[in-house]
Amino acid sequence: MDGQYLPMSEAKVSVLDWGFLHSDATYDTVHVWDGRFFRLDLHLDRFFRGMEKLRMKLPYNRSDIEKILSNCIALSGHKSAYVEMICTRGGSPTFSRDPRDAENRFIAFAVPFGSVANSEQLERGLHVAISNTVRIPPKSVDSAIKNYHWLDLVKGLFEAYDSGAETALIVDINDNIAEGPGFNVFMVKNGRLKTPAYGVLAGITRQTVFDLCSELGLLVSTGDVDRGELKDADEVFITSTAGGIMSVTRIDETVVGDGTVGSVTRQLTELYWKKHVDPAWSRPIIYE
Ligand code: PLP
Repeated sequence: MDGQYLPMSEAKVSVLDWGFLHSDATYDTVHVWDGRFFRLDLHLDRFFRGMEKLRMKLPYNRSDIEKILSNCIALSGHKSAYVEMICTRGGSPTFSRDPRDAENRFIAFAVPFGSVANSEQLERGLHVAISNTVRIPPKSVDSAIKNYHWLDLVKGLFEAYDSGAETALIVDINDNIAEGPGFNVFMVKNGRLKTPAYGVLAGITRQTVFDLCSELGLLVSTGDVDRGELKDADEVFITSTAGGIMSVTRIDETVVGDGTVGSVTRQLTELYWKKHVDPAWSRPIIYE
């Protein structure tokens, strides 16, 4: 933060930062697995695109940010980590209400790797509830910009817990499936994959599934997925930097397929983790 590396307990943001006051921020999260960044270039592309759309500017270029992220990892010593880069609107030194007067700020941190699903859930598949909460539409907040507008997602999560499920999927304005708190969703039917297109974050893990499908010769498309279609799928999985590809075996009261982690999900998951040592997809951290 502010050109310094700090222990997490000392890293504090100003209460006047618009990132805190108005969720006026964009961010990205990349993971490090066994000492290597996974698809860092794609995360940096998305981060810089988001800043440009929000008219934010930092005094750092891509290679500066890459260096800062590497230093966070090296200083923390984590071998598997969740590494977040954030640009906030910041604040104006004169308390101006004009966002053009704000001095944008950069924060980055590294914490140990965390997953949406724990190891038991990965093995048996998650129980997900479909919420009636509507994801904020892209005409209000551009879903291509990774953002902290999470009140809808957190509401969905509480509703899911109330119904005995482990996580949530929320819907778009047309009542089709959108996404969940920190993940995209895919369905598999008769060997073909499909994932929602409208109003969702273009996840890097979602993109990675597209890339893995083309390598494996699997057909994948994007488009509206309604509740019935999802429940009737042979397999369902969610995707996130926080955990990779994670099976869903129960949606509300419906058992998905035969109720176990499906073969397409297993095949994709295996290749996904293999790619973490492939130099075309990952890059080593220098720990010094
Ligand atoms: N959708 C939302 C709302 C997210 O916040 C995230 C990640 O945090 C995702 C989807 C998954 O994106 P990625 O695969 O880039 O982690």
